[in-house]
Formats: sequence, structure tokens, C-alpha cells
Amino acid sequence: MAEIEIRDLVKTYAGASYRATDAVSLTVADGEFVVLVGPSGCGKTTLLRMVAGLEQPDSGSIAIGGKDVTGLPARHRNVSMVFQSYAIFPHMKVRTNIGFGLAMRNTPKAEIAERVARAAEVLELTDYLDRYPAQLSGGQRQRVAVARAIVVDAEVLLMDEPLSNLDALLRLQFRAELKRIVARLGTTTVYVTHDQAEAMSLGDRVAVMRSGRIAQIGPPVDVYDRPSERFVGGFLGAPPMNFLPATVADDGTLAIGAQTLPASDHVASFAGRDILLGVRAENITVGGEGRLAATVDVVEPTGAAVLLTVRVDGHELKVQAPATFRTEPDSVVRLDCPPESLRYYDPETGTALL
Ligand code: ATP
Repeated sequence: MAEIEIRDLVKTYAGASYRATDAVSLTVADGEFVVLVGPSGCGKTTLLRMVAGLEQPDSGSIAIGGKDVTGLPARHRNVSMVFQSYAIFPHMKVRTNIGFGLAMRNTPKAEIAERVARAAEVLELTDYLDRYPAQLSGGQRQRVAVARAIVVDAEVLLMDEPLSNLDALLRLQFRAELKRIVARLGTTTVYVTHDQAEAMSLGDRVAVMRSGRIAQIGPPVDVYDRPSERFVGGFLGAPPMNFLPATVADDGTLAIGAQTLPASDHVASFAGRDILLGVRAENITVGGEGRLAATVDVVEPTGAAVLLTVRVDGHELKVQAPATFRTEPDSVVRLDCPPESLRYYDPETGTALL
């Protein structure tokens, strides 16, 4: 096991006019599981491949377990990688596939057999060792790819969208399995995904990336609850965080068109300013004596809740109502946002004000 220390990594691909990673720094603690998440093209894969040694940075450094590996080729770094495509060999049985990396390292046959058996047990593949990949389900193939990566006992495990080939249900099942397996192994892991739910579920910490930089990093719940910028709140969560233009009145309340909401005390320092309110759909209460009038646009039952799309002062909001809530398009409903659930952003820069 080992800490990963990434310092100021810059990478510009040949012919590109922008940096794929723009001075990214990140420390992953020994045994920690960090998820890199962000929209397509934000530089997640590039960062991971530089840690693996599959891509060279223009500048910056990478240390693993206190040792500078920046110039080292991939095979001399003690890392193991799982790719988006299963990258398992169709002509080899599961047993041989899992043991492949060990065989490449000239590991004695008896030791390979023992370690393959152990990895197969962890991934519940013992009964499939003599099958070919074509005789396996997608989820089982994915487990073979993971088994092959963990069997070599690398200090660092790197995973690039390893679940993206699975259908939604399998993906959900395997996500939990993967979490259990990696927790049990305790290997330092960096995991890339563009799926925010996967990032929230798996990471000890999530790093939300944007345009080659880490916009925010922290425990998933903290990042979800207190996005440091509008982009992060809009990326994490389904539905994304709502943003509503408001003006802070002289008495420290919030004016939304002609309507008013109380704010937390410290907002008074922004009196007279236009701001952007951030609020999660599940933190908005609906019905009763709510202070805001909203017009219902769309009603979507999700089973566990009812998702409403409403308009307040011409702005669209997503509201999560209890499953038993009944309304219909064009009805007027009353909403309320408890002051402690409100977040405040600069309308120009999108950065958090508090
Ligand atoms: P995705 O989720 O789509 O895989 P990503 O966040 O992993 O995206 P990267 O693959 O790291 O993003 O790409 C970052 C930027 O670098 C993108 O603009 C991409 O087009 C560019 N890029 C990636 N690989 C290469 C390459 N081999 N040559 C040139 N440009 C590249």
C-alpha cells in the first residue's frame, strides 16, 4: 500500500491549444479510495494515465509510496489498472486470464495457482475458472478484469470507468461488490467515472474535475452538501442543485421577484447584492404554509418520491415531494426552503459566497 502524491501535473496533447490537465495537485492517502469525476473531456483519464505511467506529463511530479516515479515506465511502477473495456483475452480461460500478470512477472506456477484461487474467491469466480470469457455474463467478465488487477498485489489500483459496459442493474450490483472488495483489500485506489452517482457511492473522497482542474475535493456528502461553485452543485446529484436568482434585501431577507424568503444571519452582509441561491430538490418543502408560490409544470412519480418541475418567478426548480403528494400541471403549490439548506453563490463567477 502507498500514498500517491501528485504535484502540479500539466499535460498538453500535441496540437491541442488547451491543457488536458492544468497544474493538478492531489494527495491520495495510503489505502484511500479517491474518485475523479467530471464531464467528458475534463482530463480524468489523462490524469489517471499519468499516474499509471501510460502518459508523460509536460511538467509536475508523481510520487508513489514516497518514491518519485514521474519518469518511470508503467511496468516499473507498482500499479495495476482496470480499463473501461474488459481487456480480458477471449482465447484464455478465466484462470489464465486472472493469472496473466503474474505469469508475465515469471511468478512460480504454484504461487500463481494459489493467488488466482484467492482472487477468484474474493470475486466469487471460483466456479468459473475453467470457462472462457464468452461463456460468462457481462458482470462476471468485469469481475475477471478486476480479479486480474488485484491478483498482482500492486501498491496502487487505478480504474477507468470499469462499470461502463454493464447494464444499469448490473452496474448497481457490481458497484456495491466493488466497494466491498476494495475496502477489504485496503489498496490505495484512484477511480475515474463520469457517473456522479457512482462517484458518490464509491469514494472516500470525490474530486470533481472541470477543464483540466480539480474544482472541489472532499468526502462525497460534504461536496454534495456544500458545492464550492455552481458547476459542482450542477454536476453532483440527480436532479442537480437548483439555482435561483435573488436579491439580498436591507433587512437580510431574500427577495425572489415579489416574494420573500428568510436567509441565514450572515447573509445580511450581502445586503443590496444580487446573488444566486442554491438549494437541493429534497430540501425544499412543498405544501402547507410555504412562503413561495410556485406553478407546477411537470409531475413525475419516481416510486420513492414525486419529482416536481415548478416555476418560481419565471425560474425553473426541481422539487422532491413525498410519494403521497398529489398535484397536477398548472396548479399553484406553496414551497419553503429552510435557511440552513440554502447556499449562496456569486451570479457572475458562480463561486460560493459563504
Ligand atoms: P471522458 O470522460 O470523455 O473519457 P476525460 O475527462 O477522461 O473524458 P481525457 O480523456 O483525459 O478526458 O481528455 C482530456 C482532453 O484531452 C480532452 O479534450 C481530449 O479530447 C484530449 N485528449 C485526450 N487524449 C488525447 C490524445 N491522445 N491526443 C490528443 N488529445 C487528447
